[in-house]
This record gives sequence, C-alpha cells and structure tokens, in this order.
Amino acid sequence: MKITILGSGTSTGVPMVGCHCAVCTSSDPKDKRTRASIIVETKGRYLLVDTSTDLRKQAIREKIPHIDGVLFTHSHADHIHGIDDLRGFHFIHKRVIPCFAEQGTMDVLTKKFSYIFTGYKEAGYSQLLEPHVVDAPFSLFGCRITPIPLLHGTMPTTGYRFNDTAYLTDCSLIPESSMEQLRSLDILILDALRYTPHPNHFNIEGALEIVRLLKPQKAILTHLTHEVLYSDGTNLPPGTEFAFDGMTLCSP
Ligand SMILES: [Zn+2]
Ligand SMILES: [Zn+2]
Ligand SMILES: [Zn+2]
Repeated sequence: MKITILGSGTSTGVPMVGCHCAVCTSSDPKDKRTRASIIVETKGRYLLVDTSTDLRKQAIREKIPHIDGVLFTHSHADHIHGIDDLRGFHFIHKRVIPCFAEQGTMDVLTKKFSYIFTGYKEAGYSQLLEPHVVDAPFSLFGCRITPIPLLHGTMPTTGYRFNDTAYLTDCSLIPESSMEQLRSLDILILDALRYTPHPNHFNIEGALEIVRLLKPQKAILTHLTHEVLYSDGTNLPPGTEFAFDGMTLCSP
C-alpha cells in the first residue's frame, strides 16, 4: 500500500494570500502546502481522502490515473470544495465512484452538491458519486478500512485507518474508544496545525502527546499553517516528521 500526501496545508494553504511572512516567502518547496488530502494506492486502486480545494492541481502533480473511491473526513470547505474536479476522471472512465462518510457529513455533501449524486440530465451532467454511509469497519479492494470517530472542536469528524496506517486530519480530541482502534499502527498521519494552541485542532505539542500514547512506528504531522517552517522538523522526536506535498509512505 502506498500513501501520498496530496496536500499538507491548513484551510488557507501556504503561502496564504496576502502574507509575506518567512514561511510564506520561503524558497523551500516543502513549505508550499496545498489543502489537506491523501491518496491511498492499493492493488492498482486509488482511494482519495477528501476532495480538497486543490484537487485538480494535486491530481495533475501526482499523475493520478483514476480514482476508485472517495472517503470524506468532514464537510469543511477545504476538504470538499474540489469535488467538481472528479468530473475529469468521469469523462475518461465513465464510472460512478463509491464515496464514504458518516451520516452528518454525507447529509451536507448530498445537500450542497446534490448534482454530484443525482446528475443533471438536462445539462448533460452525469452522476459522479454513489453515497455510502459508514460507521463500522469495511473492506474495499482488499483493504480493511476502519472509520475512526474524532472531535474537531465540537464537530464530529472521521479519521480512517487503512490496514495499519491511520489518517486523522482535523481533530482536537480522540475519544478513548477511538484510541483503542489506533493501537499497533505502522504509520500515523495526524493533524498538528501549528505551535500555538487552537480550539479545533491539535497543535504540535498536542499531536506529539498523542504520538507518545499511540507509539506508531512512524508519525507524520500534517494540516500545517504558515507558522511551521518545514526545516524545523529536524527538532521533532525520532520517527516523527512534518508532512509535505508529494511525500510518499509505504505500509503493508
Ligand atoms: Zn481542514
Ligand atoms: Zn505567512
Ligand atoms: Zn475542518
């Protein structure tokens, strides 16, 4: 299984419009962050997590040939507003793709983007996604996927465990029952936002505390703001790194 970090940035992306800080003007390509998303490649199938605002750019950059399933973490704009970019894939493969989310997220998606789920025949617009509400482990293309309930401030969000890799973006609290589902991880990709605290996201200190509790083989901190200079990752504990756009990880 190969995981690619499509986007490692917070909702504004980095650089942020109008900002001229040291990170936004950094010449290190690893300080250029598009909106948070990953793609999981398993047995030639591609599972996309979220349709970020930057999906088109990410799909072109990583030469994604097709998408076979989409999993949504929550309905914030930075995670869903690239949904129309799935259209190009449909023009090529003409398939309706299964998508997965918990009930609340699916309700927002099907209301906000009803045409994606029903098509719009008068305009020649095809249905792109088929909704599947998930609240328990399921298998897709031979990969065992466990939805992990999280809290993002007061908003419920969903992390996903793919075999022994977990992607937990946009969270500030992991309930104890979810912690139990995150034991023996090979790779943990976790929201860490920035150094200063935030009510709806783990900051770096909070994320490192979760890493200490879960003890994955490798931890990757993502959804980063312009407070975080990639090169400062050398100060992170061994086995923990900052994510960057295009980073690839391999796991059984
Ligand atoms: Zn976000
Ligand atoms: Zn900045
Ligand atoms: Zn969010």
